[in-house]
Amino acid sequence: MQERQTKQKTIIYDALKALNHPTATEVYGYVHELHPSVSRATVFRVLGGFAEKGSAQELRLSGNEVRYDYNVMPHYHAHCRECGKVTDVEVAGIPTDGLFATANCGFKIDGYSVEFFGVCKECQNS
Ligand SMILES: [Zn+2]
Ligand SMILES: [Zn+2]
Repeated sequence: MQERQTKQKTIIYDALKALNHPTATEVYGYVHELHPSVSRATVFRVLGGFAEKGSAQELRLSGNEVRYDYNVMPHYHAHCRECGKVTDVEVAGIPTDGLFATANCGFKIDGYSVEFFGVCKECQNS
């Protein structure tokens, strides 16, 4: 049982790496093609476990299902308005030293998220 679970986790993690910021449904679609015995519930549960343990991050981008990212380093995302594709953006970090303290809203701020919008290369060319 333990061994089977480990194998399923490996399969699902590999899918996460093969796909580009997939939703859980996309991960399931990919995994199901290769390993029809892995259930949808398992995929959702394992992805949730990854997020909980910090081996993947959940991305809550605008207006969409939660996406998963195996890259757990802090980084930003660009979201294509046309096709919905999500890509990593390499920009220098936003300086947060002292920034959170200036957020004068009564919160103890400990995080933020940035989402870039635009039109991806493929959509620009079509
Ligand atoms: Zn696009
Ligand atoms: Zn990413």
